[in-house]
Amino acid sequence: MIPTNEKFVILTTTGILGDAIKNIVKEDAQVVVLMGPGTDPHTYQTTQKDVQQLRHAHMIFYHGLDLEGKMTDILQRMGQERKAYAVSDALDKTALLYEGTIVADPHVWFDVKLWKQVVGFISQKLQEARPESAAYYQNNTLAYMEELAHLHELITIQINSIPKLQRVLITAHDAFGYFGKAYNIEVVGLQGVSSVAECGLKDINRIAALIRERNIKAVFFETSVSNRSIRVVLENCAHYGHKVAVGGYLYSDALGAPGTLEGTYCGMIKANATTIVNALK
Ligand SMILES: [Zn+2]
Repeated sequence: MIPTNEKFVILTTTGILGDAIKNIVKEDAQVVVLMGPGTDPHTYQTTQKDVQQLRHAHMIFYHGLDLEGKMTDILQRMGQERKAYAVSDALDKTALLYEGTIVADPHVWFDVKLWKQVVGFISQKLQEARPESAAYYQNNTLAYMEELAHLHELITIQINSIPKLQRVLITAHDAFGYFGKAYNIEVVGLQGVSSVAECGLKDINRIAALIRERNIKAVFFETSVSNRSIRVVLENCAHYGHKVAVGGYLYSDALGAPGTLEGTYCGMIKANATTIVNALK
């Protein structure tokens, strides 16, 4: 039992999950997010402070499917003493993408419809844990679901406004597979679904050739991943006299700064879509 004068503490790994939880609980609980803007969850190292915060938490939500890389073990261990959920468990296995890997692609938030299922799962678990707040959480969830439904429509319209041939999204790590499938844009990543893997010269040459053949206008950086491999692609294109622009920064595995539009899930998805459309259209 939690003493009534103590706030219920929900801990989560990324700001993406933190934003979903905050939209459900509002001021009714304290939401602690371990990984801030620009942080790459694949390579994140657990700190001493994180361990203390994990111990202090009443409930834990994390993505799962290895997104949290090295942190997965401690998250599972902490889950033995308190309720801890890998939110990807909410999704039907047939909805997941496998890029020749045993573990599915964890970047499910880029399909807003799938993310709605995740939000529903989180809400259900929170309502079970806090029956006294269940009705409040349910109301907040319904309102947020409506916002997400509008977001899905908006992104569908925006991405479809790019001519089909130019609709190719080239990024450093393969975070946009679900985005591509949901919004009908071809996605090419250099590093695979985890940023841990290095890309080889073969990948660089393959993508540079694709850019030249298809006359692709722009490639994209990511806020939480090194630009190095994309820069090599740009150099390769320049070597062949092909001009390709940097379309801007995309938010892949981390939100923007708190207090900005990109500091929320909806804002991050909107910002990405605008960046993509402006660069490719
Ligand atoms: Zn990623």
